[in-house]
Amino acid sequence: MNGGVKIISTDELIVEISEITGRKSDKEEKKRFIVNCLRKSGQLSRREIATRSGLSPATVSALVTELLDEALVVEEDAVKSPGGRRPTPIRINYEDGLAIGIKLNFSRIEGVLTDMSTGIADRCECQLIDREVETVLDAVEWVVRALMRTSAAAARPVHGIGVAIPGAIDTINGICRVSHRLGWRDVAFAERLRARLDVPVHIDDDSHAFALAQSLFGLGLTRRSFATLAIGDGISVGMVLAGKVHRGETGAAGKLGHVRHAVDGRRCECGRVGCLQAMHAVGGMLAQWRGTADRRTFASDFAGLVSAAQAGHASALAIARSAGEAIGQHLATFVNVADLRAIVLGGEAVALGDALIEPLGDQLGALVFGAPVVLTIDEHSDFWSRGAAALVTQIQFDF
Ligand SMILES: [Zn+2]
Repeated sequence: MNGGVKIISTDELIVEISEITGRKSDKEEKKRFIVNCLRKSGQLSRREIATRSGLSPATVSALVTELLDEALVVEEDAVKSPGGRRPTPIRINYEDGLAIGIKLNFSRIEGVLTDMSTGIADRCECQLIDREVETVLDAVEWVVRALMRTSAAAARPVHGIGVAIPGAIDTINGICRVSHRLGWRDVAFAERLRARLDVPVHIDDDSHAFALAQSLFGLGLTRRSFATLAIGDGISVGMVLAGKVHRGETGAAGKLGHVRHAVDGRRCECGRVGCLQAMHAVGGMLAQWRGTADRRTFASDFAGLVSAAQAGHASALAIARSAGEAIGQHLATFVNVADLRAIVLGGEAVALGDALIEPLGDQLGALVFGAPVVLTIDEHSDFWSRGAAALVTQIQFDF
């Protein structure tokens, strides 16, 4: 070690230096701690912050004054009681600005305008005619400009745009390293979108963005470590470890959908044969659904499959059960390796309800080693694009 820099190889040197240059001052770390206390508690008085943080009341008072000046927190009205004036509650100022969250899908783009706690103010969608980078940039720009013209966006600044992209994402440099679904490799998407709109742009893998939203505003409020499972066009787990989303060394962590499920299964978007998601994500389930007789009575799309399952049709229930069993089996392996005991489920496929989730839970019950796993469902609409908006919130408040 020399001056905090350990020289071993070029790659390690880059990491060490970035850690040093990114290191926050002691004061900034204390402010970050206070903001996170407020995120988890909703609101606290200065005295309560001092008790929870172990900081002196004078230090808390000075730091809260700075946070008030930066408009990151606001004071609520103090409630008067017969015993005298009560302390003034402090809370995070989520209303000061707006975020835009964009989810890129194979054939369409979903966009939401949110406050800084990912509360939806407006939404906009756009179909994609192809997945060329310029086409997608045009479409995203159109959606963003439409959201910025809404009345909700009139009075407040847009702090940033978060874009959720299915793939392996370099979040630091804003580069999509690979997206099989979009057919992209090494696309500097964040910089190219920022050049068009002059608003900060943050990108991440869609399932990591989903995990981040859960970490900030969902299960993360009560647990420091947990997992998410998203079943949509793909199947991915997200890992939140000690309050941080684990993205892996190359941004590709959690790709459960690409484990081999069958030696002679369908070809996957990644080019391999028999991947779990090729057979049991939404596309795989639809391929099975379109080969059944029941689909003449119901629509051939995923909503049709959901309706048929809800109506109790055997073929739809069998497709959902088969997916639940297969996903649950591989998820149990993940749990046995990662030892995470709470999992939030999201993605389009959760609309299948118990037909999918019960067999999935049964597999976990049968195959997981040790303590049981608690499953919960994220039933918010717009879960993908809210996750994208959370990328902006994370940067804005430095949670
Ligand atoms: Zn695959």
